[in-house]
Amino acid sequence: MNIIDEFDTITAIATPVGMGGVGVIRISGDKAFEIIEKIFTNPKFEPRKFNHGWIIDPDAKPKISIHSQEASSFNKNQKQYLPLDEVIVLPFFAPNSYTGEDVIEIQCHGGVNVVKNILNLVLKNGARMAEKGEFTKRAFLNKRMDLSQAESVADIIHSKTTEFAKVSVKNLSGVLKEGVNDIRNQIFEVLSKITAGIDFPEDVKEPEYDYLINSFNNIISSIDKVLSGANTSNIFRQGASVAIVGKPNVGKSSLFNALLSLDRAIVTDIAGTTRDVLRETLDLGIPVTLIDTAGIRDEVVNEINKVEKIGIEYSKQSLEEADLVLFVYDAKQGMKEEDKEILELLKDKKYIVVANKCDTITSPPHPNPLPQGEEMHLCLSALTGEGINELKEELTKKVCDINPENLEFVTNTRQQECLRRARNSIEQALLASQLHELQDLISIDVKSAILALDELTGELITDDILNNIFDHFCIGK
Ligand code: GDP
Repeated sequence: MNIIDEFDTITAIATPVGMGGVGVIRISGDKAFEIIEKIFTNPKFEPRKFNHGWIIDPDAKPKISIHSQEASSFNKNQKQYLPLDEVIVLPFFAPNSYTGEDVIEIQCHGGVNVVKNILNLVLKNGARMAEKGEFTKRAFLNKRMDLSQAESVADIIHSKTTEFAKVSVKNLSGVLKEGVNDIRNQIFEVLSKITAGIDFPEDVKEPEYDYLINSFNNIISSIDKVLSGANTSNIFRQGASVAIVGKPNVGKSSLFNALLSLDRAIVTDIAGTTRDVLRETLDLGIPVTLIDTAGIRDEVVNEINKVEKIGIEYSKQSLEEADLVLFVYDAKQGMKEEDKEILELLKDKKYIVVANKCDTITSPPHPNPLPQGEEMHLCLSALTGEGINELKEELTKKVCDINPENLEFVTNTRQQECLRRARNSIEQALLASQLHELQDLISIDVKSAILALDELTGELITDDILNNIFDHFCIGK
């Protein structure tokens, strides 16, 4: 469906479906007030004032009666209505709302079924179910926000770490939009001078090539400044992966659980029990995917151990995809030949050596010789938790040596691609200016740069791209 042409009234549950203190149902569109007037006991709304009352189903016979004052004053004709919940209703009059349309937000009790009952009632009274991201899409189409701000809404909702949520908010406040508009203005100024020189050659001199070269260099620097945050943004978005490896029974699963503070991996004292690869996200400022692998063992050949063998293969694969490895051995047993062989597999990797089960020994183990290039050797206990915080600190240092405060511009791959296209066009224009080519030829590249930036902010965008962006939202946003 082409939602751009469809500004009918939509509704959705805006809070996660589950048990909670409050549930919110949102309605947006021309019929928002008409609908709420039918189903609410206190529907005289004023801007910026919420109303308290009851949601009632005007078509259903009551099984219980309402004793509140609002409810009885609503029952003018002595008819009784079926109350669905006691609620607060927030009215937003167009254009002063999230979507730019008339919006009603119903705050009810946060139970799965009460929220669904109210949603169904709203649907029955004239709204249709919103599609993914449709409220934000309308906000964009009604110019309540540009595309970079709309995309930041999805980033904030989906952010896997507290830090990424913080940096995404910068775009919601319009930091990227302003940065891009500044660049666009710089480009537009040059384009205006070139165009004036071409269109009115008798009145306006075409700009000097030195001016063009200087301006294009400045524009490239400005684009580079915005793009400088690209890698960091990508790391924040995609995160890093950390594999836990070691021979069976050294405590890898226990360590996995201790780092995540959960009991997801199955821990037993039978060697080789972690047969699948488990993945969980740990918030270390950037999302770190922690991978618990089956124990790596050299010779597992017999039939019974087939499953274990698959696990070992997985381990080798996980090693390949890992940005950092936690190599675990048993502190009591000390570092044996088998452990050293596994360490050999890691020689091209960034890794931390962990001597686990330090609760079973009195003094830290001294593996001899220490592997070449090894930077960190930690002694800890996954069982008692001793040393886990030190390991987290070390992990943080190793995988996310990024200060989010220094990240001025957060961009996603779509935005980066638009910026790179704009940069390429300006580079072409720069080259052409250095060669003193005709200025109407130069203007073609300059215009392409503007178009690329307009695509970034959504000034110029196709339905397909737009649908693709909002498909990644959740319903109700
Ligand atoms: P994996 O095969 O390497 O994943 O090892 P597990 O995490 O399944 O642990 C194997 C056994 O070692 C279990 O009985 C754990 O309770 C025990 N274990 C794990 N970590 C520690 C620890 O720090 N101290 C002690 N004493 N036992 C541990």
